[in-house]
Amino acid sequence: MKLTGKIAIITGGGSGIGHAACVLFAREGATVIVADRDVAAAQRVASEIAGQGGRASAHQVDVSRDAEVAGMIAKAVADHGRLDILVNNAGYGIAGTVVTTAEADWNALMAVNVNGVFLGCKHAIPVMARQGGGAIVNTASAVANVGIHDRAAYVASKGAVAALTRAMAVDHVDQKIRINAVAPGTIESPYFTRILSGPDGAELRRGLEERQAMERLGQPVEIAQAMLWLASDDASFCTGTVMVVDGGWTARGDRKP
Ligand code: NAD
Repeated sequence: MKLTGKIAIITGGGSGIGHAACVLFAREGATVIVADRDVAAAQRVASEIAGQGGRASAHQVDVSRDAEVAGMIAKAVADHGRLDILVNNAGYGIAGTVVTTAEADWNALMAVNVNGVFLGCKHAIPVMARQGGGAIVNTASAVANVGIHDRAAYVASKGAVAALTRAMAVDHVDQKIRINAVAPGTIESPYFTRILSGPDGAELRRGLEERQAMERLGQPVEIAQAMLWLASDDASFCTGTVMVVDGGWTARGDRKP
């Protein structure tokens, strides 16, 4: 049990990677606040955890809205007296080059993927500083390190998450707040399952699998395990790290001969 007695908020906890992290963190002894814009999904995850004997509650939040994020952190402190772990995981992608991406779509994506991390940290860090420390894990992406086609806004947003993670880590090290990120490769979350269920799904899946050194997609729990390590005291000497968990995708320079 790596998180016994810890209070953890996980945003985007209603689906995919966030869902897997909520279940895993609760299994490791944390009290989990499943935070999501989709409150019905968050409630389903909280019920699943309760059914396994864990402690969880659902909280509706849009991470792009300052007042809602402030309210989420304040409620966690009011209910539990502290906040030990924040996982800023909510995010989404859109297709498009810089030429084909509408400014409104760019701004909307940045508001969630980048501002969501900024706001979560802005409101959690003072709480963690007052209580003597804490751990924050942000969800970046392997595309923070490599260019991919037709995802300009998404790639830029995840590069910003990686850079912001490093900047915040050095700003808040003296307050004993460790701030790290995971950079997942291609993970078979509902987001990807939706894409892969289209008419070109099988071909798309083959292409995605072939670019991984391991030649398979990752599972949400394989990212949740990295989040767990970064959030736990096992990672006591780790801050400002962007941990790539991508089945060897970014290490691979070519296809198998
Ligand atoms: P998902 O779509 O399965 O889950 C995302 C969850 O975030 C959903 O429950 C959604 O309701 C919630 N959400 C979206 N916008 C929100 C907002 N404004 N406020 C609160 N909640 C919001 O996606 P996933 O694949 O599990 O992605 C989770 C994170 O991992 C995202 O940041 C994504 O960019 C990142 N990521 C995913 C992959 C992948 O291959 N799936 C790869 C790299 C990074």
